[in-house]
Amino acid sequence: MDDRRAFLAVAASAVVGMLLLGRSQGASATRFAVNRTPAQWRQELGAERYAVLRDAATERPFSSPLLKEHRKGTFVCAGCAHALFSSATKFESGTGWPSFWKPLAHAVVTRADHKLLMERTEVLCARCGGHLGHVFEDGPKPTGLRYCMNGLALKFRPA
Ligand code: FE
Repeated sequence: MDDRRAFLAVAASAVVGMLLLGRSQGASATRFAVNRTPAQWRQELGAERYAVLRDAATERPFSSPLLKEHRKGTFVCAGCAHALFSSATKFESGTGWPSFWKPLAHAVVTRADHKLLMERTEVLCARCGGHLGHVFEDGPKPTGLRYCMNGLALKFRPA
């Protein structure tokens, strides 16, 4: 009887543990509307875009073809096609990364980034959580903001 009670106690705590684990994993997995496993993202995005969007890598400056994109249109997330920036807010920052002074409504979310011993604000796609770049407070009017984006995180849709 004691053995059976001990077994039940162990089994019950294991079940509680699995439930707690499942809940915490579920919470992080459902934070964004679009979710894929790392393997699925890697297959969809390819190595270069995956490194930026899912692993927060920074592309080499002056490497993006989108620096020379001056047509009217919309820059969308390369991960989930969410509309992120209008061409009307793109400007020449001289940094070597596509730069914008304002995102579209509900396009992005931000969070504090303490990597590289700097206090920076990371910018993520609001729909898939993909890493886009950072935002700085040295941009042009009217916002004074500079959304410094990785071209690999974006795709351009002409108007
Ligand atoms: Fe996205």
